[in-house]
Amino acid sequence: MIEIKEVYKSFGALEVLKGINLTVEKGEVLSVIGGSGSGKSTLLTCINGLERINSGKILVDETEVHAKATDLNILRRKIGIVFQQFNAFPHLTVLENVTLAPRKVLGMGKAEAEAIAEKQLSHVGLGDKLSVYPGRLSGGQQQRMSIARALAMSPSYMLFDEVTSALDPQLVGEVLDTLKLLADEGMTMICVTHEMTFARDVSNRVAFFHKGIMAEIAPSQAFFNTPQHPETQAFLSNIR
Ligand code: ATP
Ligand code: MG
Repeated sequence: MIEIKEVYKSFGALEVLKGINLTVEKGEVLSVIGGSGSGKSTLLTCINGLERINSGKILVDETEVHAKATDLNILRRKIGIVFQQFNAFPHLTVLENVTLAPRKVLGMGKAEAEAIAEKQLSHVGLGDKLSVYPGRLSGGQQQRMSIARALAMSPSYMLFDEVTSALDPQLVGEVLDTLKLLADEGMTMICVTHEMTFARDVSNRVAFFHKGIMAEIAPSQAFFNTPQHPETQAFLSNIR
């Protein structure tokens, strides 16, 4: 379970998160939507401790992310994060990209790491690309490789930050299908996304961020059928 309690986060004088309260249960898929600069990415980077917070608390399985005693390296093994940009190592093959963290961070032997990497790469539909270099992959394939790389660490939680936003439209579907597969398998996920069909059909709940405040959160169907907050209504009518 991820618990976010009264979290405030500023960059200098700019308040980016203004008292966020949110609990994500095990097995839940939450989509986070909202305008540019509303604090969506910052929420994710605070959850895995990439960013400090000013006040409040974030608990991941009851470990307080920003407590001094918390070993962030251990905590982050539980939380996979995938960004809009793929960040592959170009000089390593697909298989090597995916085995890197299990070997370096978990100290896993080559054979074991490769077995896990192969399994995860097959899972995302890249079982035939093991010895290819990332530069030879399409954007959609690179993004699925990034997802396999995160999954190779056996995370309990996955955070996705607009993972389809940099893709050509025809490649978006294959990556969304991968996210849906993970959701169907019961992965706990927070997905910052502009894909409203995904938000409505795959996620259990949708949260709307507006200027650092979580203005609305509701079960997906209710969120889209009967948005309550005027800013949610305005946002949804602009993209429909
Ligand atoms: P987008 O939809 O454009 O990705 P977002 O909702 O993800 O937007 P954030 O990236 O969380 O928004 O940024 C929220 C605000 O914080 C923005 O005004 C941004 O410029 C600012 N910000 C984000 N990261 C930093 C940083 N490292 N230093 C200073 N300001 C930052
Ligand atoms: Mg963002």
